[in-house]
Order: sequence, then C-alpha cells, then structure tokens
Amino acid sequence: MAVPPADFRSDTMTRPTPAMRAAMAAAEVGDDVWGEDPTVVRLEATAAALLGKPAALFLPSGTMANQVAIHVHCRAGDELICEERSHVYFYEGGGIARLSGTQVRPLVAADGTPTPEQVHAAVRADDPHFPRSRLLVLENTHNMAGGRVATPARMAAAAAAAHGHGLLVHVDGARLLNAAVALGRPASELVADVDSTTLCLSKGLGAPVGSVLAGSVAFVAEARRARKAFGGGMRQAGVLAAAALLALQDGPALLVQDHRRAKVLAAGLHALPWARVDVGATETNIVMLDLEPTASPDALLQHLRTAGVLAAKAGPRRVRFVLHRDVDDDGVTRCLAACRSFRPNSSSTS
Ligand SMILES: *Cc1c(COP(=O)(O)O)cnc(C)c1O
Repeated sequence: MAVPPADFRSDTMTRPTPAMRAAMAAAEVGDDVWGEDPTVVRLEATAAALLGKPAALFLPSGTMANQVAIHVHCRAGDELICEERSHVYFYEGGGIARLSGTQVRPLVAADGTPTPEQVHAAVRADDPHFPRSRLLVLENTHNMAGGRVATPARMAAAAAAAHGHGLLVHVDGARLLNAAVALGRPASELVADVDSTTLCLSKGLGAPVGSVLAGSVAFVAEARRARKAFGGGMRQAGVLAAAALLALQDGPALLVQDHRRAKVLAAGLHALPWARVDVGATETNIVMLDLEPTASPDALLQHLRTAGVLAAKAGPRRVRFVLHRDVDDDGVTRCLAACRSFRPNSSSTS
C-alpha cells in the first residue's frame, strides 16, 4: 500500500489513536441529557479544572460552543466586537445573525488581538440610535493571523477594557492549549479574566469529535439549555468523552513537537524565491505561505498532492499548512522537498 499523504490541511485531520478507540469501546455511559453519563461528567470536570473555571460543558463542535456562548451572552439587536477574521464571524455560517440576531463590529488587528484602545473606541455610547455593545470575542491562538499567540497580559488588557464598559468577554480558545504550550504558561492563566472560553478537543489534541465551553456555574447552566435548543444534546456521549479525556491527558505534550516542526517548515519555505513566509510570526502549529504573483496557489497545491502532500488555500494568494500529531518529521521533509521541486513558472516561456 502507498504511503498515506502528509496531511497539512488542518489539525482537525487527526485520527483517534488505538488507545482512544479502546477507551471509547470500554467507556461507561448514560444519558447525558439527563446528566447521567459519568464519562461526560468526568470530562467536563477535567476541562473546567484545566481552564480554571467553575464549570464546563461538552459540545459536538467548536462552532456550537462559540454560538452557544454568544447566544447566552447577547440578545437580538446587541452588538459584539471581534477581530475581522475571527472564526465566529468568518467561518460559522453567519451563526451570530442566524441564531442570536446579534450584529458584529469587526476590528482590524494584524496579529489577531485588538488593543484596549481599539476596544474602547468600538464600544457604543448609551444612545437609543445605537445597538447595545454587549460582548468582546477574542481568539487565541488566532487562526487566520497564522496561529498567533496573545499573552496573558494582552488578554487581560483587552478584557479589562471591555469589562470597564460593562461588556462581557468570550474567548474562542479552539487552540488555547497551543497558545499555553507556546508561552509555557497554564491555559487557565490566559483566560483568567474572561467570562467564558472554548477549547477544541478535536484539533491538535487529537479527539475525534468535540469541544468544551467553560465559565461560571450560572453561565454553564444557561449554556446547557441553549445547547439543547440548538440540537446539541448527545445522549450516550461518553463514547466521545472517553477519547477526549485521553486527548486532554496526552495531547498537550505533543503540541511542542508540532510547534517545532512548524518552525522547521516555515524556515525551509522562507528560503524559496517564490514564497513569502513570516518565520518570526510562526509561533505555534500554523504556517502561512504567501505566493509571489508569478506562482499559482492552485498549481502548488496540485503539485504537492502529486507528491503525497496535502495543504489548503487560505486566501487568493495564500496557502496554509497546519502541523498536528499525525504529521511527523518525515512529513515535513516530504513537504519541503515537494515545495523545492515546484516550478512556479512552468507554464510560462522562461
Ligand atoms: C476550528 C475552529 C473552531 C471550531 O471549529 P469546529 O470545526 O466547529 O469544531 C473555532 N474557532 C477556531 C479559531 C477554529 O480554528
């Protein structure tokens, strides 16, 4: 059988390990909508402790976790503030408008995290002409900024600015553990000053399905109601929680290797004449490659596919490579070799 492709399209591509499959088969379960699944209860307690919050809730996806949080925090006609490339605004099917009737005030921040001054300036005055500013959403790491990390100090400063105006703060922490590992700080420190946070278990941590949403006991009680209304009550979900517990136990230590490999990949790509890569901005497991106008992203992706390497477009001239536990050093070597053999001008006369 041929070597499986090195799949850099997303860290969602991780497959459950044999240990996860064994844990899923052996999981003790009950009806979680009735609060009777002991494995889900254990996962929620573990996640709450990791995130330093009183309570947590297991949901089918990070998208549902974010949208449930927004639904609990905001009313129809309210406004939430977020960076313009935020997942909640860009990649969740218009869920903010569809599900909560809330509107968005997008801010521009090169590294994905707005400054306190930007937050101050975006908050609406108390005037019946305006929507009511209700929520600040931060994303850490920031996916479309290239996996950029916001430090605890920057998170605290942005949160303080929002709280100072009476807004609530939610963190899209899909890759919060990547940020924590990159900084060498506990994840709980990054979200200490915010009202709610998510964490994806199904990305670099390696669980097949699921995210958690954490916050106060009262917030999580409301989130549980919203999850049911959104169709996210999952019954014998312990089969998923069992794999997620292993992802939380073993996953974080593996992220260190993903970050190391991302730096190797970024440095190798940077040396190519047709590629622009910000090596210094490659802080976690995401490498953003911008192609010179002479080079076609689609031609590159096709060339890579032929060489057994998968990546994905992240803009008209941009290709994204994501490192995760199912891509090893050999995968990075194969990817770099394939990129080096790419001839961007092969269809021109040169
Ligand atoms: C992946 C991701 C999510 C959630 O995605 P799901 O596929 O719905 O689990 C949320 N925010 C960010 C930044 C993400 O990268």
